[in-house]
Amino acid sequence: LTTYTDEARIALDTLAGRATGLVSPSLRIGVTGLSRAGKTVFITAFVHNLLHGGRLPLFDAQSSGRISKAYLEHQPDDAVPRFQYEDHIAALVESRIWPESTRAISELRLTVEFESASAWNRLLSRGKLSFDIVDYPGEWLLDLPLLSKDYETFCHEALEMAALPARADLSAEWRALTHEVDPNEPADEMTARRLFEAFSSYLRACKADHRALSTLPPGRFLMPGDLEGSPALTFAPLGVEPGARGKPGSLHAMMERRYEAYKTHVVRPFFREHIARLDRQIVLIDAMQAMNAGAEAVTDLERALTEILSCFRQGRGNLLTGLFSHRIDRILVAATKADHIHHESHDRLQAIVRRLADRAIARAGFSGAAVDVLAMAAVRATREGTVRQGKETLPVIIGTPLEGETIAGETFDGETETAIFPGDLPEKPGLIFQQPGPDEENAGSAPENPLRFVRFRPPRLERTAEGLTLSLPHIRLDRALQFLVGDQLA
Ligand code: GDP
Repeated sequence: LTTYTDEARIALDTLAGRATGLVSPSLRIGVTGLSRAGKTVFITAFVHNLLHGGRLPLFDAQSSGRISKAYLEHQPDDAVPRFQYEDHIAALVESRIWPESTRAISELRLTVEFESASAWNRLLSRGKLSFDIVDYPGEWLLDLPLLSKDYETFCHEALEMAALPARADLSAEWRALTHEVDPNEPADEMTARRLFEAFSSYLRACKADHRALSTLPPGRFLMPGDLEGSPALTFAPLGVEPGARGKPGSLHAMMERRYEAYKTHVVRPFFREHIARLDRQIVLIDAMQAMNAGAEAVTDLERALTEILSCFRQGRGNLLTGLFSHRIDRILVAATKADHIHHESHDRLQAIVRRLADRAIARAGFSGAAVDVLAMAAVRATREGTVRQGKETLPVIIGTPLEGETIAGETFDGETETAIFPGDLPEKPGLIFQQPGPDEENAGSAPENPLRFVRFRPPRLERTAEGLTLSLPHIRLDRALQFLVGDQLA
């Protein structure tokens, strides 16, 4: 009886709230991307620019002055950590250091009060909308395909991938260890741990800077969240073939049980509780770092993007939309850090992202949501200028390279502003997909590349003549917001 009364009361409260405008409708926006793609910086800049009335000419609701108020509110999900906006913005603006990156899921509610552009909408809506921004590692998303795979198939595919030229040397130690182990030997915790550690350090090595390979599941091996050290996270693939069965008490049986536990206790709840409730999604990619590392890394990024987009594909054959009826209707694929190149190259970067996304969409057989692409910088750390070299005037970008960055033998101290001639992106986007020929020795390692990107410190905020401090500068953040939420504020 109590439950019914409680439920009825909640329903009544909700109704009353809606009638008086106390409960505002909300839009859940997922922000994802592989580690260091720029999620934390994006969310911080998004919130900052709304709270401070930033310059967002292409974000209609803001530029036309229809947003009267924007503020942070308590998030609705008590069990999810809060996105620590205040810490991140202080790091960016006061210390001019990049904030701490995403390690696990977190959430933030930003509410805006606005006036609809159309008279009709003004009559119908209360002019208040909450954005529930959900930040989560893209690595976790790449776990979705595991739900339809048994342990033996997972082993087979992991070993196959590990033997590819781009990964073979990184995985050599783990593969050697796996070959030494007989899957039928009695289960032993220490062996399981040794294999897990070798496997996860191979996965981590794939992410190392000069290699920039995307990732392989299980996603929590790279981003464990709060599950580090639990048995569901202490397993590894063994040298077993699809169809093989583990004898009771064997290492094979133990690993298989843990793999299934990982799916049941980690992967499934994550999709059910978080991903299945999203309305909009932005997928950030670090295309620049991948291009810096060479064609193999670009191909790998495309593979990861394909798998990420497959998660949001609608219709038959998709585990996610098969399990849940909620739909994401807009997805933005955005390459951040466009401030590392001159604006003349921004459209080229966008063309490259479009091509990456188109290929990923085609390969994933994607349909359903509207997908757009964008080259942007959530925070613009550089400005543009020109330098004269002989008779020529060359476009440069000017910023403060991070301490320890080197250009042409010079190492920076993190305080000195410098003009840099950024590499040119190819005019034809297809060029970055070219693989090194089979006889080229450096297949898999970073080939010589004309693109060189240094990392800059966050910018110093500009002040106006009246002494007002401007909000964080950006490139095309307004376009991102217009696509993601503009229609909801129309
Ligand atoms: P996350 O792992 O996806 O949360 O990645 P972060 O948001 O922490 O970004 C990783 C790093 O990329 C930052 O520390 C910055 O060095 C860089 N970065 C991210 N976004 C931008 C941007 O808009 N402009 C510039 N210049 N650098 C960025």
